Amino acid sequence: MNALAATNRNFRQAARILGLDSKLEKSLLIPFREIKVECTIPKDDGTLVSYIGFRVQHDNSRGPMKGGIRYHPESRVVDLLLPSGVAGSKMNALIRRGCFLPPPLNAWMPFDDLLLPRNIFEFLLKYSCVLSIGSFLPVDPDEVNALAQLMTWKTAVADIPYGGAKGGIGCTPKELSISELERLTRVFTQKIHDLIGVNTDVPAPDMGTNAQTMAWILDEYSKFHGYSPAVVTGKPTDLGGSLGREAATGRGVVYATEALLAEHGKSIKGLTFAIQGFGNVGSWAARLFHEKGGKVVAVSDITGAVRNSNGIDIQALLQHKETTGKLADFDGADAMDSNDLLAHECDVLVPCALGGVLNRENAGDVRAKFIIEAANHPTDPDADEILSKKGVVILPDIYANAGGVTVSYFEWVQNIQGFMWDEDKVNNELKRYMTKAFHNIKGMCQLQDCNLRMGAFTSQHITKKVSGHARTKVE
Ligand code: GLU
Repeated sequence: MNALAATNRNFRQAARILGLDSKLEKSLLIPFREIKVECTIPKDDGTLVSYIGFRVQHDNSRGPMKGGIRYHPESRVVDLLLPSGVAGSKMNALIRRGCFLPPPLNAWMPFDDLLLPRNIFEFLLKYSCVLSIGSFLPVDPDEVNALAQLMTWKTAVADIPYGGAKGGIGCTPKELSISELERLTRVFTQKIHDLIGVNTDVPAPDMGTNAQTMAWILDEYSKFHGYSPAVVTGKPTDLGGSLGREAATGRGVVYATEALLAEHGKSIKGLTFAIQGFGNVGSWAARLFHEKGGKVVAVSDITGAVRNSNGIDIQALLQHKETTGKLADFDGADAMDSNDLLAHECDVLVPCALGGVLNRENAGDVRAKFIIEAANHPTDPDADEILSKKGVVILPDIYANAGGVTVSYFEWVQNIQGFMWDEDKVNNELKRYMTKAFHNIKGMCQLQDCNLRMGAFTSQHITKKVSGHARTKVE
């Protein structure tokens, strides 16, 4: 099921529980605005290259729209058109990243020097690929759309005064030089500067972007509108970024896990964790689980996976990755197949990478008792059903990974006040917000007799959000 269909299905289910008016339900599913721009830049060798940039602004009933900008190829769209010679390796890379399950071999057909699925149209529909006349778009707008909608629900669950948005550029950041990335970011900002702003839409880092990207956006935006540090969050601290923002999503994941485990009479200490993804979120979560006495027994990323049933020394693994650029060949753990990570023996499974990684095909193999959704929409609705039948407790993404946007809110507040908080204050406030949100969700679960995902989707603050349009029975 594609990301948008899955997100819509969750929201519809919540709307039914809340007894929302069907017209209101429909209007909440349609984004406020979708922006698509072409960004053409000269490469370092002088040739011109074009990329497609998106910003989907979902809803602003609770405040300015808020959400990350990701630089990611969404390769399932482009890479389907594979020159037959490289099909095997590319397909494997896509499968490893959980992008899709390949059709059987006899379902592929050669076409010029490409290898296409025979049932191309059915296939495109299934994988939500978008066919434009004669070419394929390099970013999947449905995915950005789903992520924008999730930001609306996430900021409501966290009870911060924002709506939701998400953006992206279809590119492979690792293949661009730093100056090419800077040119691309500045051109993208020139194209959207009139549509973002401190009180309208406030971007932040996401997959493939970071504090440096935000610095370029801020600089470019300020050329048009004057110096406005609060137009982006996740900036370098020298430019008004908040202390604690870089670790915030991972730290929020850990606070959320603590709140959930406490409900079950458990704590992080002594439990085992398997972590998919070792980028910003995964590495911070792993580091903090380890610091709190948790045993991180398996870690994977795009370069491979490692395991150690006695617990991996995360600081040492980080150092190894920094020097070698990969997880493999780390002395303190054995190599393993990254396809096996989701089924690894552990108490707590933490997907921190792409969406849709837990699906009908692999959900039955999960051995963890708890899943903490540090990534956005890692569990599709089929997997949700299978896992809940197995008794696995899932802490949903719109709550579990809300720490990043919550500290983004603190950064925005600090910028507007012109006053900087110390890191302890940021972390303490983050813990307070995460704990409070968990209790709100639990309250909703009890009231509606539903699971944590529906508890989050129906939590008080979402109800308040829609109450701008209509009172609901929960109010
Ligand atoms: N990209 C992060 C998210 O998906 C943070 C968004 C923000 O800070 O605005 O939640």
